[in-house]
Amino acid sequence: MTGFASLVAGFGAAVDLPGGARRRYVNMDHAASTPPFLSVLEHIAGLAPSYGNVHRGRGWSSQVSTRAYEEAREDVRRFVGAGARQLVVFTRNTTESINHIAARLPVRAGDVIISTVTEHHSNDLPWRRIAPVVRAGIDASGRVDEHQLLDLLTAHRGRIAALAVSAASNVTGAVNPVHQWAAWAHSCGAPIVVDAAQLAPHRPLDVRDPDDAGHLDYVVFSAHKMYAPFGVGVLVAPRRVLEQGAPWQAGGGTVDIVDEQDVAWTSSPERDEAGTPCVLGAVALAEAMHQMRRLGYDAMRAHEDRLAGQLRRTLADIEGVRLYGPRDGDRLGVVAFNVAGVPHGLAAAVLADEFGIGTRSGCFCAHQYVKALLGIGPEESRALARRIAAGDRRDVPGMVRASLGLCSVPEDVERLADGVRAIAEGRFAAGYELDPASGEYRFPTTAPVS
Ligand code: PMP
Repeated sequence: MTGFASLVAGFGAAVDLPGGARRRYVNMDHAASTPPFLSVLEHIAGLAPSYGNVHRGRGWSSQVSTRAYEEAREDVRRFVGAGARQLVVFTRNTTESINHIAARLPVRAGDVIISTVTEHHSNDLPWRRIAPVVRAGIDASGRVDEHQLLDLLTAHRGRIAALAVSAASNVTGAVNPVHQWAAWAHSCGAPIVVDAAQLAPHRPLDVRDPDDAGHLDYVVFSAHKMYAPFGVGVLVAPRRVLEQGAPWQAGGGTVDIVDEQDVAWTSSPERDEAGTPCVLGAVALAEAMHQMRRLGYDAMRAHEDRLAGQLRRTLADIEGVRLYGPRDGDRLGVVAFNVAGVPHGLAAAVLADEFGIGTRSGCFCAHQYVKALLGIGPEESRALARRIAAGDRRDVPGMVRASLGLCSVPEDVERLADGVRAIAEGRFAAGYELDPASGEYRFPTTAPVS
């Protein structure tokens, strides 16, 4: 049974493993990126012959493309529930969207950003450039410590440029109650920025009316995690913020009139989309959203919850396997684990090279969260930084992450469980080579070919 899988490009592809075997590839790396929906491929192939640059062209292709691009914007607006007071800006990805907000956010002297240690670096590093970042830690379950978060908001009331949080973690899949947190932020005079990169492919998004206490001021996500990997990201922001001040990036399309000295910026979203936008990427995203709506979030969630339950149970039953993050509550099908005595990089290499399973290992661009989950303190962390600076990545801490998507099927979970069981029992090729500079393990050149 392939369920949703047959709707996604690449399902069933066979790969040649270094040991010589040929197996169906099992993609367990959807939290990083998803392959495109077939309908998305068809859709952009249909539009490609009439592709032209948008907005100012007078010819047929420009008009067709402009219409398609602006319709895509409207589709995204509907998808996130945005109204007239919110704008949709197309960017390259979530990272660019957050950098964009960091450049356009009103910040007063003395303001802080409130955030959490669970954030992806893309929702942390851009903030450090504009204000001190104060972060809530995690509780014993591995979720954001909500008491601490509320205390921080209260303590900094009136001096918070933004509360910047993710809607779901890319490490543990923990889903956060962002509307509740939005109400807390608003009651302390702060807007909320929600990194929905992980949540958007799995749950409906609703920014809500700006008069609703739990509305989301800024929401960002990436099309490449939503079965439309063609270079587009989304930024939803308050119109009143984007309609003032200079854009983050200046250039073609951002102005009404220019002379030697002066520039009159045009209105947003054009003011905030300098240069030629990724028209086909935006159209691809809109089609992916249509496809998700046709499938229905309830059905997609039921599929994922079933497989995620199977995945967590089977992994937890294997001796020597440790799972990280919350054991209950709302979680996506993202599971981080380690196998006792086996470095995460080696486990991921064995899964890839001997079982044909794509996972990811390391700290997943969320070093603070992974270190907190692994109990790595500041001293160990500093020693590690020194070793990395010296070019030695052999013992970089981390985990293996398996993440499910619409193309996941029960046999994928069984294959992963087989692989992890074999790793835990030491049944894998001897002599994987560790490259100290990258920390990556290579299949042993001396291993017998099966
Ligand atoms: N935030 C989260 C929670 C993510 O999972 C990711 C992607 N791993 C990002 C931000 C960054 O997304 P992008 O690479 O598309 O900019």
